Amino acid sequence: MKSKLSIAAVMLSAMILGTQCGFAAPADQKPGVKILATGGTIAGSAASKTATSGYKAGSLGIDVLMEAVPEIKDYAQVSGEQVCNISSNNMTDELWLKLSKRINELAAQKDVGGIVVTHGTDTLEETAYFLDLTVKSDKPVVITGAMRPATAISADGPMNLLNSVRLAADKKASGNGVMVLLNDEIDNARDVTKTNTTSVDTFKSHNGPLGFMNDGVPDFYNKPLRLHTTKTPFDVRNLTSLPKVYVIYGTAGSDGKIVDAAVKAGAKGIVYAGTGNGSIHQQDKEALIKAAKAGVVVVRSSRTGSGMVVPEPEYAKEGFLDGDSLNPQKARILLQLALTKTHDLGEIQAMFHKY
Ligand code: GLU
Repeated sequence: MKSKLSIAAVMLSAMILGTQCGFAAPADQKPGVKILATGGTIAGSAASKTATSGYKAGSLGIDVLMEAVPEIKDYAQVSGEQVCNISSNNMTDELWLKLSKRINELAAQKDVGGIVVTHGTDTLEETAYFLDLTVKSDKPVVITGAMRPATAISADGPMNLLNSVRLAADKKASGNGVMVLLNDEIDNARDVTKTNTTSVDTFKSHNGPLGFMNDGVPDFYNKPLRLHTTKTPFDVRNLTSLPKVYVIYGTAGSDGKIVDAAVKAGAKGIVYAGTGNGSIHQQDKEALIKAAKAGVVVVRSSRTGSGMVVPEPEYAKEGFLDGDSLNPQKARILLQLALTKTHDLGEIQAMFHKY
């Protein structure tokens, strides 16, 4: 009897010690984390261990990615699902809708505590913001990728995947909207952008990250202030397509012809990536005035890479809206979603200051 009791005591203290030291919880107590794989460099395979370019993105399946990091199972009951396997420079509105709908279904399940999306880094920030505006759940949704293919020496994908599962499994991460996690840095979907073509330290937010993974444990220092997920009116669950919105890049020598072509191609909105504070070349401005008169919603953003676009009377009087501090590719997403709700310029402008 005495020895049974002492065995129980030893087991109990081992369990307490295990929890304190961050050892794995019993399987049935671990949160469920679903990994949705979409492709990218994290699933990329190169001909040699030293190659970090010239590889094929989106060539390995979710099972291979998960097998490479068995440690993810120490922190969550993990299962994977392949949504697509593409290089994210080929991302489409239709795949965004599919992904958002699937996340909404999964997030409604009791056994799912958090969701991880693996993605190519090229358009990762866009998918993150689209999901941030359309996922209707407070559960952690983490989007991650890699800058080096899975076959490279010092591939960054495995640690990014492990950290993402740990973040998605952590209750502290709830209510932050969609988070981007690479290179130990946690950023919010609205503000983060890819800043470097090849460096592993490429994702940055101008107002600083939300937090960091410190030895696998999340520490938060900021909160997203703009409304997201459950606090937006954007519900894509019944949508099969999104309004056509083009981004047009302003440069010296612009002549309005690309604006005309966008209108001809059926644009419902145009985001103008203007010079400086969203300034518009005179020739493009004339074409945009015509477009606005034909019902196309025009939003000014900036090609500078940081700062907000402040209203200018010269443009406001033509009905052009300002895109706040969203970069052009993210202003496009908000305008697409706004156009699913309203064509009222005042209401759309208000959305740009809220989300
Ligand atoms: N262009 C590829 C993609 O976006 C590779 C970039 C990456 O994943 O780092 O999927």
